[in-house]
Amino acid sequence: MPALRVEIACPQCGAPAELEETDRLFQCPFCRVRSFLAGPEGFRYVLPAKPPRRGGLIYVPYWRFKGLFFFCRPNGVDHRFVDVNEIAVDLPALPRTLGLRPQGLKLRFLTPHAKGRYLPPAVSFGQAVRAFQERSLRAIGRPPLYSAHLGEAAGLLYAPYALAGDGLVDAVLDRPLPGKAPPALLELPAAGLEPQAGISFLAALCPDCGWDLEGAPQALALHCRNCESSWIPSGGRLTRVESCCAAGGDAGAFFLPFWEIGCAVGGIELKTRGDLARAANLPVVPPPQWEEEAFRFLVPAFKVRAANFLQLAGALTLQPPAGGLSPALPGPRHHPVTLPVEEACESLKLILAGFLRPRREMAARLAAIDVHPERFRLAYLPFRETTHDWVLPGSSLSINRNVLGLSENL
Ligand SMILES: [Zn+2]
Ligand SMILES: [Zn+2]
Repeated sequence: MPALRVEIACPQCGAPAELEETDRLFQCPFCRVRSFLAGPEGFRYVLPAKPPRRGGLIYVPYWRFKGLFFFCRPNGVDHRFVDVNEIAVDLPALPRTLGLRPQGLKLRFLTPHAKGRYLPPAVSFGQAVRAFQERSLRAIGRPPLYSAHLGEAAGLLYAPYALAGDGLVDAVLDRPLPGKAPPALLELPAAGLEPQAGISFLAALCPDCGWDLEGAPQALALHCRNCESSWIPSGGRLTRVESCCAAGGDAGAFFLPFWEIGCAVGGIELKTRGDLARAANLPVVPPPQWEEEAFRFLVPAFKVRAANFLQLAGALTLQPPAGGLSPALPGPRHHPVTLPVEEACESLKLILAGFLRPRREMAARLAAIDVHPERFRLAYLPFRETTHDWVLPGSSLSINRNVLGLSENL
């Protein structure tokens, strides 16, 4: 499933450019100025009207979710990849979904105060994702013990419609819809429905020292090589995030990013690594130093296939890098952060479920467990390159390099 294409205008010189929906760091091909794209609450896109119309358009919101649903069962975890969208307002006369149509179009980002009447969504993104999840589940059968989602791309798609007499025209296809326009649309006020929030372009400069920030086009975390700081978007601006590297990489090491997440966990004793060994009923007696090591999750901060994601998170949470982590930026050979920490946090209870033993008690224990993320930092781990794989030295962990290459498809 291809990524959506988005047309933008350089915020500096106005030159037109085109991005993939997951691109965040944009360098203008004309004036070379680099900007980082931030949305206040997820990204919002506008489908183009055909032919372009002057005014009179009503933009109807559709929630979109592309990513994975995980369903935890007593005997393991099922997953399902979806790319879905569904209308976010209660207007049964309108198409319930845009289907695959957005893939063939050049979208625009919604900008504040854009012309037109934009209906606010009547359901939240969380409600929409739960509905998608339930539908996905009905296709699979039997309710799971626990379910989680991991988004690759999500946001709101605005589709244009036009009133024509007492009917309604789909302004993307330039085709009338059957029947009459819903009264709610006929009675819309002529003004006051312009969008208030939209995309913002942040200067890709270190907020602390003004140096150019470094990152791949899809990078969600940018690095300043001058003051050795890392930055992630939060609430429409760049905020600092602690960045660490594991020791042990040789000169040609390739660093992969992980989120190290410290949590308050309720319903189970889980303060130290020793506690985790007992919850997992490991067949070895945990060494005494495990009782001193605080329990932390270590979760991929990049998109990778579902099975790899769970395997890496489970193995590294149980067996974090032996030499510990020290504050540092990764070398130039590193994979960009492409999975936000908010998404990583969605997976924590699922990762924990993978440890619980005996399995027959998992249902009851899982229901009682609460995981509250409290602090996080970026942890870069040095992998060694072989012909086909990235291998973590001192472990049995490896990732097929093609799977990493396919990161756009989780
Ligand atoms: Zn420019
Ligand atoms: Zn700096």
